[in-house]
Amino acid sequence: MPVTQTIEVSEKPLPGFIGDRAPMGMLIGGDWTQAASGETFETVNPATGSVLATVASGGPADVDRAVAAARRAFEEPSWASMNPHDRTLVLLRIADAMEANAEELAALESMDGGIPITVTRGMVADAAKTVRYYAGWPKILGTVNPVDASVHCYTVREPLGVCAGIIPWNGPLTMAVWKIAPALACGNTVILKPAEQTPLTALRLGQILAETGLPAGVVNIVTGFGETAGAAIAGHMSIDKVSFTGSTATGKEILRASLGNLKRVTLELGGKSPHIVMPDADIGAAARNAAAGFAMLTGQVCVAGTRILVHESVLDDFAAELATAVSAFRVGDPFDEQTMLGPVVSAEQFERVNSYVSLGVSEGAQIAFGGGRFDTPGYFVEPTVFAGVRNDMRLAREEIFGPVAALMPFRDADEAVRIANDTEYGLAAAVATSNVSTAHRLARKLRAGVVWVNTYSELDATFPFGGYKQSGIGRELGDKSLESFTELKSVFIRL
Ligand code: ADP
Ligand code: MG
Repeated sequence: MPVTQTIEVSEKPLPGFIGDRAPMGMLIGGDWTQAASGETFETVNPATGSVLATVASGGPADVDRAVAAARRAFEEPSWASMNPHDRTLVLLRIADAMEANAEELAALESMDGGIPITVTRGMVADAAKTVRYYAGWPKILGTVNPVDASVHCYTVREPLGVCAGIIPWNGPLTMAVWKIAPALACGNTVILKPAEQTPLTALRLGQILAETGLPAGVVNIVTGFGETAGAAIAGHMSIDKVSFTGSTATGKEILRASLGNLKRVTLELGGKSPHIVMPDADIGAAARNAAAGFAMLTGQVCVAGTRILVHESVLDDFAAELATAVSAFRVGDPFDEQTMLGPVVSAEQFERVNSYVSLGVSEGAQIAFGGGRFDTPGYFVEPTVFAGVRNDMRLAREEIFGPVAALMPFRDADEAVRIANDTEYGLAAAVATSNVSTAHRLARKLRAGVVWVNTYSELDATFPFGGYKQSGIGRELGDKSLESFTELKSVFIRL
């Protein structure tokens, strides 16, 4: 592969939170503690490859301690039985404290995950907004059910108990908040396990939670690897729910591990999302949305629009506009305010993305643009678009989790829908059209949890999110999270 550009990234001063070189502890029962085994791991800055911090590597014994602390906090008359209005006040204080520490949270997120600082600032702001949205939910109501006059029959929603969140590395603070905020709003206590690649913002959030008066044990942060800490959580007999975001393969393992105590499981998994460009679309705007849709966060997004389906009559125009839009993305130092794409998160991801570029070529597809390498020790990859892709190639079927897209022509809307739905995933889909009927017709036919029209990737705390097929089980955000973080009890009283 040709070297297209040199990228230089200077080392940034570490936020004070990381402190000296001592291993960073986990938050269990209100205390900062090392792993029972004494083991640690290092988290790396993917823009430079240098070690940021050493972090406790939790295992089964630590998960046991976290479960005991969370159970105590749930059962003591504290969090679950608190007046919901008082829980609202705590959640509002957490959102305020996140905003007060926004610049530090954004910097930590950018260092640990390689996400550009302009993006992480937006992520922190959105995370605080999501906490406020759930703070506004002391409104979880039951029903009175009309039976006959001699009975009183009603329903009530109750917290599940100890809820675990296992989250990935591609938007760590966002994911932490999606798991923690609705769980707390419903009166549950929480164990959060951040990804081993990006533990820092979860730990800083843990500190913020403790400082804002959240009772000890209500939220516990256990750092560690999936195979140890993660697996101990998924299989734990005293955890009531696990809410997981990550790969489909790991999601299936978690579902299997949950069988022991039939814990509640929600899974938000992978995707291979189609973006359909109709001939009547504003081609320039569609190309810019499609470019952002597959390349933003350097393609490390579960909703990435990696199969771009374009009507054959506009394919050439669209391809030219797409190339222009992608070449405008500045790849570079996450702390440079002009940077739009940082590195991928790890050496492993770097190898994986490059291997898919080679695979595409060996499957017979052609690189339309991109495919170059950068001269830098960081894990930077160039956004790459393939032409001549058939939907049965691995390039079009497997989630790459890097900025690699397949451009495919279609003849009519029926064919577009057929190709779009011909995937084992069903997380997201998009349509570009100027015809409102076409938009609604296609939105109806696409088998995906989220459909965007003339935009891409937009989410909101009120907007239920989740996948069809192997993209997941259940929905997060909006009032749907409140259903999945509560049990429904029916009470039947003969009067
Ligand atoms: P990736 O392969 O890109 O790291 P994963 O889906 O494996 O994505 O990881 C997402 C999260 O799941 C991380 O927090 C990881 O530690 C955790 N994890 C990985 N494997 C397991 C497992 N077997 N059980 C529980 N959690 C796991
Ligand atoms: Mg993994």
